[in-house]
Amino acid sequence: MIEVRDLVYEYPTKRALDGVSLTVQPQTITALVGPNGAGKTTLLRCLAALEAPYSGTVTINGLDTRESPRAIHAHLGYLPDFYGLYDELSVRRCLLYAAWSHGIAPALSSGAVEKAAQRVGLVDRLETRAGELSRGLRQRLAIGQAIVHEPNVLLLDEPAAGLDPQARRDLSALLRKLREAGMTLVVSSHILAELEDYCSEMIIVEGGHVVGGKPIKVRDDERPRYLIELATARSDLRSFLTGAGIDVLEADDHHALITFTRNPGARAKLIRDIVKAGFELSSFGESTKALEEAYFSQVAGGANGT
Ligand code: ATP
Repeated sequence: MIEVRDLVYEYPTKRALDGVSLTVQPQTITALVGPNGAGKTTLLRCLAALEAPYSGTVTINGLDTRESPRAIHAHLGYLPDFYGLYDELSVRRCLLYAAWSHGIAPALSSGAVEKAAQRVGLVDRLETRAGELSRGLRQRLAIGQAIVHEPNVLLLDEPAAGLDPQARRDLSALLRKLREAGMTLVVSSHILAELEDYCSEMIIVEGGHVVGGKPIKVRDDERPRYLIELATARSDLRSFLTGAGIDVLEADDHHALITFTRNPGARAKLIRDIVKAGFELSSFGESTKALEEAYFSQVAGGANGT
């Protein structure tokens, strides 16, 4: 779906991307993370066929961004980190303007506007002026504009920046819904804990390079992640847990990250079994920071600094 090979991008005074290669699978949500100035925005702009690579290739849906930018834009939505809205226009007019800009025929555009408004939860605000919307609703309108032509790839640059907790939660739900509807999403953000709510993959960019990445198990409210910590190392921790039918996400001699039911009785039994097997259990608790931990273990200077 999205293929990047040996991408190099240079501003006049700066090489911002230096040999980036990555693949994004269809119908996934990929988190693009990295420190300020890492190259995330530049990479998203290259994926959006808004910048031409200095060398290397970017293909979206099998099309090369250098050769077919217009054809790519027909199936791609992009939300920049700083976007403008026409504050004097109503929500309906903003979406209509976006529909026309994407070449949707006038006869079809009002249907497209209604559908986009419904997807982003703005049906009851269609006649409100964009300038009167709260920050969270403006964000939803901007996403509505980016998806009015029903793209199958959606790129979002820092979509959660500046949103309050409820608006961020709404944004998570919206992005999950778009993925379930068949879209492939790439989302850059600094808010790692939230990306974990909806991202299934993570790509870490630093200094213009991809320095790490891994699949992330999307947080499941029914089967949360638990971190098991031992006071004394045991090399058989993983095999013990898998032998007991536990879903082990990661393990070493001191720790194991598992997914397990919320059921208190089942958890109590698991703790009993671990202790009965002679493990010196020092902690057993829900883990909400797997993505953050993975990030810091992979970027330079991280705790495990690989
Ligand atoms: P942030 O998280 O702060 O938004 P980022 O990861 O998105 O950062 P980019 O904005 O892609 O990073 O910038 C990558 C590098 O390119 C940075 O060193 C930045 O200073 C540089 N850069 C970005 N835009 C330009 C430009 N127009 N001209 C020259 N250098 C630029």
